[in-house]
Amino acid sequence: MAKLFYEKDVDPALIAARKVAILGYGSQGHAHALNLRDSGVDVRVGLRQGSSSADKARSEGLRVLPLDEAAAEADLIMILLPDTEQKAVFESSIGPNLREGDALFFAHGFNIRFEQITPPAGVDVAMVAPKGPGHLVRRTYTEGGGVPALVAVAQDASGKAKQIALSYAHGIGAARAGVLETTFEEETETDLFGEQVVLCGGLTALVTAGYETLVNAGYQPESAYFECLHELKLIVDLMYEGGITGMRFSISDTAEYGDLTRGPRVINAAVRQEMGRILEEIRSGHFAEEWVAENRTGRKRFSELRSAGASHPIEKVGAELRAMMPWISAGRARPQDVSGG
Ligand code: NAD
Ligand code: MG
Repeated sequence: MAKLFYEKDVDPALIAARKVAILGYGSQGHAHALNLRDSGVDVRVGLRQGSSSADKARSEGLRVLPLDEAAAEADLIMILLPDTEQKAVFESSIGPNLREGDALFFAHGFNIRFEQITPPAGVDVAMVAPKGPGHLVRRTYTEGGGVPALVAVAQDASGKAKQIALSYAHGIGAARAGVLETTFEEETETDLFGEQVVLCGGLTALVTAGYETLVNAGYQPESAYFECLHELKLIVDLMYEGGITGMRFSISDTAEYGDLTRGPRVINAAVRQEMGRILEEIRSGHFAEEWVAENRTGRKRFSELRSAGASHPIEKVGAELRAMMPWISAGRARPQDVSGG
């Protein structure tokens, strides 16, 4: 078993001794800023001019500064901007304000792993990546719990980068739940692989293909929707609580026999080979290059694919059925809470 760090393994004084700047006040930013502040850490929030989040942060009692002033004043800078915006903000506002002895923190390794950002020597470079959406990072903290996190060090100028990262993780509540040490490589590559192959890409393609197979065979779209999308939550909740075996304990023997004999025919050798190719595209930097270029050229393909997905028939029938079940949408997460990191 890998070693996990808990509160007793961490020195909270390290982060309490720093001037921390949280850049960005989105999903992760608001949670880190508020949790650190409530843990007694000296926090300021860096936002671009005219940011709509500034009033929200101020109304929580946080000090808000322009990005470059926050970076200049702080000696530990956590970048919680969208991954695609970080390089430009680093070049304009962060890099020029880094001094020897400062620490530069990330919540996801993309820009370091794929060399979009190259911090100067003399600066600690570390990651504290909560394994959960920002609203849970905040909510579990206020309830006395925490969301687990990964920590990693890319550059250890002070000789204490890992201890400081653990102390930061403690400040946001993660050491209550468990902190796992990793590397920027492992975090970035497994994160991209997970979202592409299983959590987002694999899952949406599986659901859509199952739905289309049933509808094309003449079954009612409503039946196909309930079967292939709606019921997923029940199954996923059971797996979350009790693993795959726990889930199988709760389903019928007929469902379990079908699962055991048919599942491997769906995720067959060809699919596994494709998973391997996707992993290789991630490790070689091919995916990162493609995504950086897509952003540089105005996201045309991304927008087209997004619209095509949104106008698929499963979305129309789903919207109609969910409108009859208002309790479902009442508890829905904001879209940005399920992405990234
Ligand atoms: P977000 O989109 O929710 O928030 C980004 C913030 O940056 C917002 O305050 C936005 O107004 C601001 N912003 C956007 N563009 C900007 C620009 N050009 N200049 C200045 N400010 C700008 O982002 P997030 O989901 O909190 O992600 C932040 C980091 O955390 C990313 O590295 C992400 O990979 C990582 N992460 C996210 C999650 C998650 O669940 N959302 C989980 C773990 C790690
Ligand atoms: Mg992730």
